[in-house]
Amino acid sequence: MGHYHYDCDEYCDECLPVGENSSLVEYDMGEQDSPANCCQCHRPLDYSLTQEGVKYVLGHLKNCIKNGIDWNIYDCYVGSYYEGMPHCAVVRDWAFELKNYFLTEEEEEIVDKFLELTKEVGNWHNKTKTN
Ligand SMILES: [Zn+2]
Repeated sequence: MGHYHYDCDEYCDECLPVGENSSLVEYDMGEQDSPANCCQCHRPLDYSLTQEGVKYVLGHLKNCIKNGIDWNIYDCYVGSYYEGMPHCAVVRDWAFELKNYFLTEEEEEIVDKFLELTKEVGNWHNKTKTN
């Protein structure tokens, strides 16, 4: 998925309201401090994280493990990529992405723990995506 900046928001190819060659659109190739999701459909966008960004996601995963996984299904995802999915599905995609980065053994354990705790989501995804 592409990752575009337009009018202070982030969009995927499909939701970008103007042509991608418009002078108002900027294609994102840089590193950033947090994961990116399309502001319209919430689909995860291509991004690469800075070290700060990796720390941010790890911190988030740690909080989820400590305070409980958020299995709520929120209305804001209706009609979007995550429709009918629990909130932790979004974070789970971030966690998968982290596997592409260099992590210490301890950090790797945090990611694996989170993925283990949310593995139910995997089935969920398949259920909603096969039709
Ligand atoms: Zn989109």
